[in-house]
Amino acid sequence: MNRKYRKPLIAGNWKMNKTPTEAKEFMVNFKGILPRSRWCDIALCVPAVCIPAAVRAVRETRIAIGAENCNANASGAYTGEIATNMLVDAGCKYVIIGHSERRAMGETDQDVNAKVKAALEAGLTPIMCCGESLEQRESGITEEWVTIQIKRGLEGIEAESIRKIVIAYEPIWAIGTGRTATPEQAEEVCELIRAIIRKQYGAKIARATVILYGGSMNEKNAFDLLAKPDIDGGLIGGASLVPEKFVKIIEATNQPAV
Ligand code: PEP
Repeated sequence: MNRKYRKPLIAGNWKMNKTPTEAKEFMVNFKGILPRSRWCDIALCVPAVCIPAAVRAVRETRIAIGAENCNANASGAYTGEIATNMLVDAGCKYVIIGHSERRAMGETDQDVNAKVKAALEAGLTPIMCCGESLEQRESGITEEWVTIQIKRGLEGIEAESIRKIVIAYEPIWAIGTGRTATPEQAEEVCELIRAIIRKQYGAKIARATVILYGGSMNEKNAFDLLAKPDIDGGLIGGASLVPEKFVKIIEATNQPAV
């Protein structure tokens, strides 16, 4: 983290876990043990049906609620889909876009780009995910792959909007596997992402961009990952389902400013 230029963000991704009742219970427990110090921003991205209960439960706290996906269209015949203005009206501040689990269901870089634009237009902070598979890492094309995902995902987005986007580097081989990238491996790619942004949008915007690491980050490995200068926080799956674990990750952002 480099807290001189960026406020860290710890964001949870609940995926398809918890009912609205369980979401409310989680928030009550989480609020009860959340430290008062504001070392980082906090977001919980929850299943769509949990959004109203979660938003109600965190009212007048600093916990932000986000969605796990959105549709790029404003309205219309898209059965089962949710538009960005609906998420805003429901009280969301963030939306995860391009998670590898959604890319595996057919989401393309072009879809990601359209969703990022729609989220920005609605006033949501997109958390745009990228990351390579194990096969891609082992064949030495991580850099090339992530560069393509970032360039296509951000295509046509004006410089002043880039600082409103959070980027999450999530190597697919580390998601939900318990196999975390080493702090060095994670830093190498987060540094690459910042370099891509610097080249395209300039040093000032690159310095202000929040880049997260995600992939089996937990209460034990968070401190070392977050100590790296280009890792500004985490996108947390499994460990965000347990209030005590999630709080420990938040506490791991309490490190001396680099
Ligand atoms: C994720 O779903 O974005 C994620 C990083 O999951 P986990 O922390 O469980 O690996």
